[in-house]
Amino acid sequence: MTRAAIWWGELRRVVWILLAVSLVGWLLGNTIPALMLGALLLVAMWLYQLWRVSSWLQDPIGEPPAASGLWGEVFNGVSRLRRWDREERDRLQSAVSYLRESFAALKEAAVMVDPEGRIEWSNASAERLLGLQYPRDHGQLVLDLLRIPNFHSYTLSGEFDEPLQLTSPLDDGVKLIMEITPFGIGSQLILARDNTREQRLESMRRDFVANVSHELRTPLTVITGYLHTMLDNRLAENEKIQSPLEQMRQQAERMETLLHDLLWLSRLEFSEGQENFELVDMRDILLDVQQHFQEAYPERTIELSIDCECHLEGNHDQLYSAVSNLVVNALKYSEDDIELNWKQADGKCLLSVVDQGPGIKPVHLPRLTERFYRVDKSRSQETGGTGLGLAIVKHILAGHGAYLQIESKVGVGSRFCCVFPTL
Ligand code: ADP
Repeated sequence: MTRAAIWWGELRRVVWILLAVSLVGWLLGNTIPALMLGALLLVAMWLYQLWRVSSWLQDPIGEPPAASGLWGEVFNGVSRLRRWDREERDRLQSAVSYLRESFAALKEAAVMVDPEGRIEWSNASAERLLGLQYPRDHGQLVLDLLRIPNFHSYTLSGEFDEPLQLTSPLDDGVKLIMEITPFGIGSQLILARDNTREQRLESMRRDFVANVSHELRTPLTVITGYLHTMLDNRLAENEKIQSPLEQMRQQAERMETLLHDLLWLSRLEFSEGQENFELVDMRDILLDVQQHFQEAYPERTIELSIDCECHLEGNHDQLYSAVSNLVVNALKYSEDDIELNWKQADGKCLLSVVDQGPGIKPVHLPRLTERFYRVDKSRSQETGGTGLGLAIVKHILAGHGAYLQIESKVGVGSRFCCVFPTL
């Protein structure tokens, strides 16, 4: 039956009841009181139906009361809504159970933390890797249970772009990598996975590079020594031999520079924490670098502007190396004057090296600090680069809690800016 037909039926019923009582009232000579009695009868019927529906709503599973006409339609509508609501709740419940089951089966430790930092749920791997047990630790503050200093500072920093490396609180030999994902209103999902194998491989790779570079150094020094002696004393008078000897010397020197950079990078990788850190006045470093390169490149101007009084907590040699790498690049890849600025802005200390060279296409910028990444291989070889300069800079800055910002426009120039936190 359509809705209009139901309404018409109900209206007809009301009119028939009122007409019937009016007729009886008219026959008895009391039309108005009879009409009022009819209206009261209707209200009583409706109240009775409302009482039935309200009692039925108290019962979570009962069937709707039987009724015809408009009231039957209302009962059926409410019943449909209740069924839909129940089905929706069941679906949500099974989705939550499904998610929990899949999180429970993860090899990674998964911990859900509420906006106050209390544990809401954790899986079985969280017990194995972090020592957190659910439901025992439900409602406990995660910072109270995981007493690991760098986890505390990482959590409190609120910056979770980079994952955190840490040692398992249960076993010093187990290395973990942890990621925190905020969700909902202030809740967090903490995921930690066993990274021991990867870290062991990484450490083997570092050892290998450091050892090979070290072992190659001595034979190379002997070879370059002999080549220098032969060329200096013109032992090979013959032009045909002289030129290859010269090329050998150049290539041997390139290899020496490469080994030097590789060893320096290895040393930076091995130096953990803030080794040999002291209060460094960047002005001294900048003046030294400017003087050194001005002597090496007398035909170029290195403009130095210093608008910052602040000192840095750092390693003097490493900072010197970072600045000189950036200055060498600016001199190598451009032909005009270059600028060296030291200033303070937005609570940070900024050291920038600006050149008016060829610039770098945006596609290369994210990869520039990778080892051996070069925009133009042939040009870099011409300029004698090792491809490790910016990787060294990045490493040094990371050790100082700083980072490198690169801005470049093709045909205009580049700006390499080291952003240091203020003390
Ligand atoms: P390289 O020893 O080859 O200079 P780097 O790590 O120092 O190695 O630099 C990586 C690459 O970034 C370089 O090969 C070069 O293509 C590009 N590059 C670095 N600095 C500049 C600059 N100032 N202008 C243009 N390109 C640059």
